Amino acid sequence: MRSIKHVVDGLSGLDAAVMTDSELSEGIGEVSRAIEVLEALFLRMTARLDRRRPFEADGILSTSRFLATACDMASSTAREKVRVARRLESMPLVAERFAAGELTYSKVRMLAAAADAHPEAFESHEATLVDVAMSLTVRDARRALDYWTQNLEGPLSFAEMVERSHVHLSRTWQGMITGDILLDPEAGETVVKAIEAAMPPGDARASGEDWPRKASQRRAEALTHICRRYLENGDSTTGGERPHVTVLVDLETLERRTGHTCELDRSGSIPAETARRLACDARVSRVIVGPDSQPLDVGRTTRTFTTAQRRAVTVRDRHCVFPGCDRPPPWCDVHHVIHWIDGGETAVSNGALLCRRHHVLHHEGGFGIEGSDGHLVVTRPDGSVIAKHGPPTRRRL
Ligand SMILES: [Zn+2]
Ligand SMILES: [Zn+2]
Repeated sequence: MRSIKHVVDGLSGLDAAVMTDSELSEGIGEVSRAIEVLEALFLRMTARLDRRRPFEADGILSTSRFLATACDMASSTAREKVRVARRLESMPLVAERFAAGELTYSKVRMLAAAADAHPEAFESHEATLVDVAMSLTVRDARRALDYWTQNLEGPLSFAEMVERSHVHLSRTWQGMITGDILLDPEAGETVVKAIEAAMPPGDARASGEDWPRKASQRRAEALTHICRRYLENGDSTTGGERPHVTVLVDLETLERRTGHTCELDRSGSIPAETARRLACDARVSRVIVGPDSQPLDVGRTTRTFTTAQRRAVTVRDRHCVFPGCDRPPPWCDVHHVIHWIDGGETAVSNGALLCRRHHVLHHEGGFGIEGSDGHLVVTRPDGSVIAKHGPPTRRRL
């Protein structure tokens, strides 16, 4: 073990900044192979530890717990290393290639998963599967191994597909939500059809924007739209009230003084400008708290447009008022041109239809909107005017 320490100490003195381009591009492959050779050694040592279990003398009950502590690893990583180390003992060809630095850990891990699923079949196919894994990229090797596994398992019944379906949603950086979705073909078709039907146009001009939006962004918008419509009109109720998004915000934040409380139920804290936008229309319930955290204004009862006012604004504006945008009323919020927190009235004259995208561009993107009664001046963040316009002329019925 002293030799490993000796080699590693020598390596840590190497300075990437002084390497030539060819040293970097040739050397990086060699370093990567060295890492794999060390990884293979690490797993062989893990397998030995797992058999001999010297850590039990210290009251540590599992190999993965020992690795997590001794190597400062996440528990999930440690468990995976132990699983792969154990499996490698019954995959002699894989172990040999791995030790020689010819198979990477990424591929070894996939091969181990395939062997876990079908140990006997793997034993008889090991040589072929090693050749396949070595000749393909990581991505293609994964596909080939998935195909091999599925072929052994045979087709799934519909009930098994339903059984396997899931939607995992989790919160990430800055409260954004990420998801992993697996649906049976029928449910999947329903979701895909609904999202396609709700997708806003991809043509940049049709949505009044200077840049075309990617299909993936438009799908995100469509999914949000569907869910908002469901919360507004759907048949689901909780506690006698339709479920809805709630924002908790303090008065100082809304008034653009220094505030701190600004949260959504599930997504956690949000920027102050976003809270101002959410408080602008009634689609999101809000709880506004004073300095002592006592609620000042709860729910949709005040300072939000009534159904009749909303209808009047819709009749006047017809669609989103942002220049060039014709997204229809169901896509739109009724925006307070002068925010009610700044003394703006909740009146038809102070309302304007803005699609969610443009409502965001105004509150969070610096685009200005001023005026009243549908006569509006829209400006870019630098203050230059995009358009001055009145309400669209009435079409003859
Ligand atoms: Zn607004
Ligand atoms: Zn718009």
